[in-house]
Formats: sequence, C-alpha cells, structure tokens
Amino acid sequence: MAVELQERSGTFREYALKRAAELKQMIIPYINNSQAIPTGFSLSETFQARRADILNYFGATLEDWENWHWQMTHRITDSRDLAALLPGLTPDQCREIEHVGKSYRWAVSPYYLSLMSDTDSLGPIRLQGLPTLAELDEDFGEEDPMGEGITSPAPSITRRYPDRLIINVTNMCGMYCRHCQRRRNIGETDTHSPHNQLKAALDYIRANPEIRDVLVTGGDALLLSDLTLDWLLGELHSIPHVEIKRIGTRAPVTLPMRITDELCAILAKYPPIYINTQFNHPKEVTEDAKKAADKLIAAGVVLGNQAVLLKGINHQPEIMKKLNQELLKIRVRPYYIFHAKNVKGTRHFVPRIQDGLAVMDKLRGYTSGLAVPTYIINAPKGGGKTPILPQYLVSLDENKALLRTWEGKLVQYETP
Ligand SMILES: *Cc1c(COP(=O)(O)O)cnc(C)c1O
Repeated sequence: MAVELQERSGTFREYALKRAAELKQMIIPYINNSQAIPTGFSLSETFQARRADILNYFGATLEDWENWHWQMTHRITDSRDLAALLPGLTPDQCREIEHVGKSYRWAVSPYYLSLMSDTDSLGPIRLQGLPTLAELDEDFGEEDPMGEGITSPAPSITRRYPDRLIINVTNMCGMYCRHCQRRRNIGETDTHSPHNQLKAALDYIRANPEIRDVLVTGGDALLLSDLTLDWLLGELHSIPHVEIKRIGTRAPVTLPMRITDELCAILAKYPPIYINTQFNHPKEVTEDAKKAADKLIAAGVVLGNQAVLLKGINHQPEIMKKLNQELLKIRVRPYYIFHAKNVKGTRHFVPRIQDGLAVMDKLRGYTSGLAVPTYIINAPKGGGKTPILPQYLVSLDENKALLRTWEGKLVQYETP
C-alpha cells in the first residue's frame, strides 16, 4: 500500500511539475512585454521633474501644488500656457488644440499635465486630455447616446433600474476627458446643480422607498465643496431606505489632492460609501493616486474602478492587464470596463467589440480573478448595462454542457 501511494504521488508530482513548467512558459511573453509598459510608479521621478517645471512656470510652491483649489484655478486652458509647459508641442499641434477648443472646451489640471509626455503626442495621458482634430468629425455618434434626457423622472436624476438611480450634481471636472460621454453637458462654464434641484432630487428619493442605492455623479462629484457634500451625503444618510451611497469621480486620477483629511472626515460620517473612479492606463496609477486611495480607504470607503475601453489608449490586452494589476496594488478593485459609447466627436476612441472580447479573454485565468472586471456595453437609449463575455459555454442541453476553459480546451460537463 505504502509503496503504491508513494509511486502514485511521484507520478502526480511529475505531472504537476510538467504542468507548472507549461504555466511558467505561458506567462513569459507577458512578463517580457509588460516591462515596456510605463506605470505611474515607474515614472515617479519624471513626474516630479515635470511638477518642478510647472511650479516654476506659475511661480508656485509645493504647498500650492497640494492644494486642490490651486490646482483648479490653475487648470491649463490656454494653448500658450500649454506650449510653454509642453515644449515638445509643435506649432501645428498648438493651433489644432486652439481650433478644436473653440467647439469643445478643454482644461487640464497641473497635476494631470505633469503625467503627460512632452514628446509623444499619442501618449495615453495626452490623448485623454488634449483635443485633436478628430473631435470635429461630425459623421458619427450622438450627443446623448445614453438617452439620459429621456430617463430623468426628476431634476438631476437618471433612473434606469428598479432599485437605484443617479443624481447628477455638477458638470465640473479636474480635466475634461476627450472621450467624455457627457460632453454635451460640459458647455463653456462650470456649474453645480442648483440647491433647489438637489432638494427636488432628494424629495424624489424620499418618495420612492424602493431606491436603496444612490449614485452621486457628474461631472466629477468630488468637485462639490466639502460643505455641499456634507449636506447632500447627510441628507441621503438620513433616508432610511437608502442602504448605500456611491460617488462617481475621477479625482483620484486627475486631482488626487482633492482627497483631503477634511473630505475624508466627512465621508467617514456616512457609511457605507462606495467610490468608483476611472483609471484608464497604468501611467495614471501614481504615488499620489495611491496616497488618495489610502486616505479614502482609511475613511472606510470601498474603491472600485470603471475603465473605459479606448482605442489607442488601453484596448490592448497587455495594457489592460497591467492597469488592473496596478490598481489591485493600491486597493482599487476593477469593477467595469465600459465599451466607449458612440458619442459625437469621439469616433477615434471607439474600439471594436472584438477588441474588448480579446481583452477579457486574456484576463480570465491568466491573472487574478480580482483583476477581471465585467465588460459592459451600454444599450442605446438608456437600455442599460449589458455584460459581454467571450464564449465559455459552447453548448448546453438538458443536463450536458460543452465548456471552453480559459486556455481554450473543450470539456464536457454534466449535471445530475
Ligand atoms: C451605471 C448606472 C447605475 C449603476 O449601475 P451598477 O451596475 O449597479 O453599477 C445606476 N443608474 C444608472 C442610470 C446608471 O447608468
């Protein structure tokens, strides 16, 4: 008996070793390629040098830099400032930005600018932050593909699901993403939703007891003042049927200094709060982003990421894998990958569904399940979030299924 067992475990071990060698081979190409993908941490010194240049240009101090109000009042919105701060910008690119800016407003926080490559006009930060001629393509998309205009039962509210809804509190952002799905709301000026509108939204929620989840978004919801956030979250907290509150914000990505001790003290008063942010590229996962995440987590907030799948920025499986792994390092759980919507002026960012499927196919099994978000296409006209998966269930009969494993092996599976 003992001899037989030993022999068998020897055989098992040999099998496991062979399989382990196979698995190791499988990850080697990624390890080699991913070293060339820059991350916010690997570029830390470059960003610090850029920060010094920007501070020098504005005659400002590190203390100013850490002040989110300074960041907001010094958002770069003028092509001359931009040319001074990005010497690699060509006069043609500068004119292009100025020209497109007349149709679609742009603004970049000094912090987000410090992540931009001076030399690579196709870098992921520049593509997200600076306008290009492609935005003037009028033959594609709609202003409001989500039909938010037709799913608003009360001021500032979008309701598309049975038990939860969105309150839209501002059109203001630290940086106006070039791929924004709500570009129609950006307009020319920053405006928070007026107090009486927010009050009407709260009345709607009070009057509808099935609403157990309220998502405060914008624009960037964390650009509300501490005072307004304290009031709004407090009001929501006092509604017995509101079980959870969520905040949509890119502040951890574009304006991490917004995450102050004062803000965190407010957030800590109204648990449970979930914050979903939008990191789209591993370059955005910086030391400062980590500090912001650490503070939010210490305040009891649960962090998730809603990336947008963007052509030329993160549609490549290795970049998306790296992004999700970097996020787990700073305790931000990848939640969704949204297929970029057909928004007017954003055709150049819209990938193919095949790209999204390839990304998902290269995540599941190849990396931690925690790094595998749900890939979502938003059905037109407010039809709702629709999950899209590579085909793992090849066929299904009464009690027999044919499955495709993450590696692509076909296996039969039977139920009693
Ligand atoms: C995305 C969204 C939600 C939240 O959806 P979850 O899948 O629960 O994250 C709620 N309301 C609207 C209108 C939305 O667009």
